Order: sequence, then C-alpha cells, then structure tokens
Amino acid sequence: MMDLVIPDKTHDESRQGEALVLEPAAGKNNGRKLYIESYGCAMNFSDSEIVASILAEQGFETTADHNLADVIFINTCSIRENAEQRVRNRLKEFTVAKVKNPGLVVGVLGCMAERLKSKFLEEEKLVDVVVGPDAYRNLPELIDQVDSGQKAVNVLLSREETYADISPVRLNSNGINAFVSIMRGCDNMCSFCVVPFTRGRERSRDPKSIVAECTDLFNKGYREVTLLGQNVDSYKWKQPQPALSKGEGSDEPNAEEVLSFGEDLGESETTNFANLLELVALINPDLRVRFSTSHPKDITDDVLYTINQYENICNYIHLPVQSGNSRILEMMNRTYDREWYINRIDAIRRIIPDCAVSTDVITGFCSETDEEHHDTVTMMDYVKYDFAYMFKYSERPGTLAAKRYADDIPEEIKQKRLAQIVAKQQEYSFYRMQARIGKVEKVLIEGYSKKSDKDYCGRSDQNAMVIFPVGDNYKPGEYVNVLIEKTTSATLIGKVVE
Ligand code: SAM
Ligand code: SF4
Repeated sequence: MMDLVIPDKTHDESRQGEALVLEPAAGKNNGRKLYIESYGCAMNFSDSEIVASILAEQGFETTADHNLADVIFINTCSIRENAEQRVRNRLKEFTVAKVKNPGLVVGVLGCMAERLKSKFLEEEKLVDVVVGPDAYRNLPELIDQVDSGQKAVNVLLSREETYADISPVRLNSNGINAFVSIMRGCDNMCSFCVVPFTRGRERSRDPKSIVAECTDLFNKGYREVTLLGQNVDSYKWKQPQPALSKGEGSDEPNAEEVLSFGEDLGESETTNFANLLELVALINPDLRVRFSTSHPKDITDDVLYTINQYENICNYIHLPVQSGNSRILEMMNRTYDREWYINRIDAIRRIIPDCAVSTDVITGFCSETDEEHHDTVTMMDYVKYDFAYMFKYSERPGTLAAKRYADDIPEEIKQKRLAQIVAKQQEYSFYRMQARIGKVEKVLIEGYSKKSDKDYCGRSDQNAMVIFPVGDNYKPGEYVNVLIEKTTSATLIGKVVE
C-alpha cells in the first residue's frame, strides 16, 4: 500500500504539540522557566517565536519539560473542532502539575483564547491567562497580574499590530528554513472559517521590515524563507505619507522629505505581493523564496510572471480549492466559481511550466450532494494536484455557515467522501512523483533523513522531499543536483550528480 504523507510545511502534523526551546537572552535571566507548546498552522508556530522573543527580553528561559516550568503556555488552533479538543485534553494533563505547584502560571494563547475569551477561565478552572493573537506585547504585564493573585485576559484585536519590529527568535530551527510572517488576519469571511473572528482584520507588514528580516536570516546562514499570510495575494503596503512640514509662507512640502519618500526600496508608493516577492528574491539568488497561502480569487498573472522570472522563487503554489462545485463555492463565500479556479490553474500551467500545485479540500459541506461532491473529484482529475490537505467539514460556532446553514451531511457520508478523495489524491501524488524519475532536481539539503544518517534529505524546487546518500562534498545548507531514480507517493529518491 502507498503511504500518504503530505509533504507541506505550513501545517506540519509531526510538529503539533511541539515544545519550543531557546537560549535565554544574555545577562537577563530572571530565574523563571517558560514552557510553550504550539498547535495549528505555521502562522501559530511563527507567533510562538514572537512570544518567546518578548519573554526572553524579560529574562525567561525556555524548557522542553513542562514539569520544570514556572509558566506554561499553549498556543492554540480553532480551525476544526478536533483541534480544540486536542488542546482541552492537553490542558487536563497540566492540572496535575498545577496541583503539585500552585504557583505555576498556565496560559492559553492564540485562536482558542480569542474565540472563547474570558469564558475560558470559567470553563477550564486551571487557566490563569487568556491572550489573543494581537496582545502578545502585553504578556509581561499579564504575567505580573497573575503573580499578584488575579486572572488575566487580553483578547483585544488590533487593526495595526504586525509585530514588525520584534525580531523573532528561531525556535527548534535547523538554521536553514524559516517562516516569515508578512501579514496578519483575514478579511475574506469564507462561511466555514473561524479565522476572521480569531485573528481579526487583514493587515500587511512593512516591506522594509520583511526584507530586513529575510536579509538577516540569509546573513545568518538560512537559505529558504516561507512568506506567510492567510491570503498572500492580497498583501498590500501603502507607504505612509510622511507628515510634511511646510516651507515658510508656503503650502509646498519640504523637497527633502519628498525625495526621501520610499527611496530605500526603490519602490512605488504601494507594494503588492508581486513586488514583495521580487524584493525578497533580489536579496540573494541563493535564498529560496516560498509563500503560503495563495487565494484563487486574488492570485494575479503578475505574481505568476514574477515567480517565473526569478529562479529562486520556488515553482510551487498552494491554491486551496475547497470544493469543485460552483454552488457550494458560493455557499462557502469563496467568491470564485469552478470556471474561475480552472482559469487560474490554466494560467499557472501556461506561465510557470513545471509548477507544483497543492490544495485544501473540504468534504460534506452543508447540503453538498453526491453530484456536487463528484465535481470536487473531477477537479482533482483536472488539476492532478501534487498533494492536498483534505478535511471533513466541521461546523465552527459563530461562523456564517453555522448561522445560515444546517450541518446536515451525516458523518458517515462526510467520511466516505473524504476517503474517496484521499484515495484519489494518493494516485495523483504518486503520478506526480513518478513523472520526476530520470529528472535532475536542485535540492537544498536540510539534514539527515528521518530514517537513516547515511542519507540526507532536502526539498526540490517543487517542494517534494528528496532523499539521497550523504557525501563528502556537500552538507546541510548547500544546494546539490540530484538525479531521481525512484519514488514513493511522498518522496523522491536519487543520487547526487554534477
Ligand atoms: N487562508 C487559507 C485559505 O484561504 O485557503 C486557509 C486557512 S485555514 C487555516 C486552512 C484550511 O482549513 C482551509 O483551507 C480549509 O480547507 C480548512 N478549514 C477551515 N475551516 C474549516 C472547517 N470549518 N471545517 C473543515 N475544514 C476547515
Ligand atoms: Fe479562512 Fe477564507 Fe480567510 Fe482562508 S481566506 S483564512 S479560509 S476566511
């Protein structure tokens, strides 16, 4: 039987619940230990790095053992009910630790904190702190508040916060790939999705701070950055107009201020996603650039031409379809239909030859018929995705779908449809992998393969995991050309060639 491992890093199943560890900031040890565990998407893992940076500045040291911790934080995900259940079960385990050590501070961060707010404190008696994704700067004060015997909550969402000035510490990093958050929140209001409610309005981060962070990563030896946002194609930064001082007796702006405006990046007033990709790609040809997630309604030909123009922008696009049926897409409020999505796929195939495409699919959305589900299957036949995340619809309280539509597809049917598309995807993943046999892939070496220290692993431009023997002339962080000799449905296997 073929194994189905989905080789994408934006939601890495193997990292769920991972505890993150870092060195304490020099000379700042306050004698207290922080344990931070993260769930959900890459954005959450990236946020945990911001939280750790803020607390390292306060002198906290991190630990991988919650039994040694003075403060335990769980950075949570609300996207599906089972994600929340997982966190609740984990919190129960911390009850034991709290009984043994009443001074222990336990906090819930992220999407579940935002969704449940102070209700959390009543429901889960053990929790002392509840902090939403836009309030992490306030953590030191909130911990002080708990130390003085009160519970602490800050779930205010912001229209501006991007944590642009906080240089995130890299936690559990291999020193080669890093996630860089380019925007926060989401304005799309897909009817099934809780994200707009838990992470607030969409806001983009200043491109100068993004380029500075990526340059710094490159200088530290990193060779791949993944630019993160819920809908990267709607990234937009408008250079704030400087407060122009006026010449005496004149309404004209000061000439010097006009000249310096935007000149550092040589940019026009507005930076869109295509511009940002180019700015990051230009840092160094040896820095690979990836991004996630693209939205079918917003991905432009300009973005595709930019990807094709720069060798170091990877030929890989994650383009969630959710459903292949136009009526369901309309109910999902995705704002595109089947034809539009196919048009975007055709544009990708035309403009970027050899581009890998992956997707997200939801089965059993409200009122979905067998025929409508079949449209998703035929969409998979049309695109032949390289890989896919596939989910059963899970109703989330407060979302538009929960308010408007009955969650009326029986669990067995959701499950049957899911099994069908999982099987279909296995076929296409294998088909895409097989098509690479005999080709030479440029691979960025990430480290030893999971199974053997006689092999290295790394990713191809198209984001496929590649395994090949360790050699004397190359090491992690370097690029090699690998001739592909065989595959599984998730891995390419080969040898290094000149
Ligand atoms: N912003 C991305 C987009 O628009 O595609 C995805 C964000 S979401 C964190 C990741 C995926 O979770 C979605 O693409 C969707 O397939 C899935 N998802 C979101 N809400 C869901 C729900 N209520 N039930 C099942 N799957 C859901
Ligand atoms: Fe959720 Fe839609 Fe926003 Fe993605 S684009 S985060 S699915 S609301």
